[in-house]
Amino acid sequence: MTHNGRTVSILGVTGSVGQSTLAVIEELRGQGADIPVEAVTAGRNVAGLVDACRRLKPRFAAVSDPSLLSAAREALASLNVAVGAGPSALEEAGARPADWIMSAIVGAAGLAPTMAAVRRGALVALANKECLVCAGPLFIEAAKTHGAMLLPVDSEHNAIFQVLTHPERVEKLTLTASGGPFRTVSLEAMARATPAEACAHPRWNMGRKISVDSATLMNKGLELIEASYLFGFSSKSIDVIVHPQSTVHSFVHYVDGSVLAQLASPDMRVPIAFTLAWPDRAAVSAARLDLGQLGQLTFEAPDAARFPALALCRTALGTGAAATTALSAANEIAVQAFLESRIGFLDICRIVEDALSDLERAEAGLIAKTPSSFDEVAVVDQAARLAAQRIAGSLAAA
Ligand code: NDP
Repeated sequence: MTHNGRTVSILGVTGSVGQSTLAVIEELRGQGADIPVEAVTAGRNVAGLVDACRRLKPRFAAVSDPSLLSAAREALASLNVAVGAGPSALEEAGARPADWIMSAIVGAAGLAPTMAAVRRGALVALANKECLVCAGPLFIEAAKTHGAMLLPVDSEHNAIFQVLTHPERVEKLTLTASGGPFRTVSLEAMARATPAEACAHPRWNMGRKISVDSATLMNKGLELIEASYLFGFSSKSIDVIVHPQSTVHSFVHYVDGSVLAQLASPDMRVPIAFTLAWPDRAAVSAARLDLGQLGQLTFEAPDAARFPALALCRTALGTGAAATTALSAANEIAVQAFLESRIGFLDICRIVEDALSDLERAEAGLIAKTPSSFDEVAVVDQAARLAAQRIAGSLAAA
């Protein structure tokens, strides 16, 4: 089956990836494809959810905030859609029978609803990288056990997936990074950066959390962890290179010296359409590459001194799965504190590093071992959030 006739659900329909997914579905429906929608979810954006329901006509819609249930029911009363709220409703959205599901909730909040889809062996289009960073080995194992197909949406991982013809003959992977808004900005200026400046990404229009992650290069570090869990390569076999044009989305280096890459304009509709039509391809109207106009593609090494997040992520990956859980959780807290102007930009990585050190000191047993259940993942996640909150609080008070 290709996209025509595929029933779909979208977790996080009101976000940047969710809206691009909606646009792809509308475009393919406009070409005559039959793409019924089973479920859509939002966090607190009821107006956005209503708009998505009008356009997609799902059977079920959910908001994450339980206090918004009656507001959502009222707003959706004229549409023929069942409405739910809270964690169980989000999980129901994942569990409902869609062939293909877009996992585009931001942060660890996306894990449980995505797992509900994994457990029923769905095609899972995975934008939410935090699922993998938070619970990588367990998540991958569950996908294997239940026969779920993980289709990476992150443009770098999607690119690798597209050219990973001989996984057992790969020498290394190279993830490309745009470099974010502070690629050429001094450390002094970065120290003074505002949330608006950090969110002004030069190439991609994304949600606020991933935009800040791109500015610190934590996003690339999270992607390195994501690639390691998803494709089964160690940190040593994954390089990162800054490529400001965001045209080559990654490289796969083979043992015979061949290097394969996927190129496209920086538009999330390209990887989304790829996953929706997989194993076929679908026609979407994303801007075509004009190589003559592009002229040059450039590459440069990331600056480890200004962007310590990459090394933090490599270290966590080397330490083990509990460390990547803790890193992702601490980063979520630090980014939120920065977005609320409680801490400075450079404090983000400081908080993540200190939270991990605190956990290693105080709860060495917790961070050293690989979580053997999602409950254990939740314990590590919570401990890291508390440590990061404590450190962010003392930095804000200083
Ligand atoms: P956005 O912030 O734009 O959207 C996030 C979505 O999640 C919204 O629908 C939001 O609802 C919902 N949401 C927020 N908090 C919760 C919660 N606690 N429980 C349930 N739902 C919640 O993010 P993006 O679309 O930019 O990113 C989504 C994911 O995709 C991230 O993991 C990101 O790393 C990844 N990704 C994004 C890319 C991009 O280009 N944007 C590229 C590659 C990966 P509401 O609108 O109501 O707040």
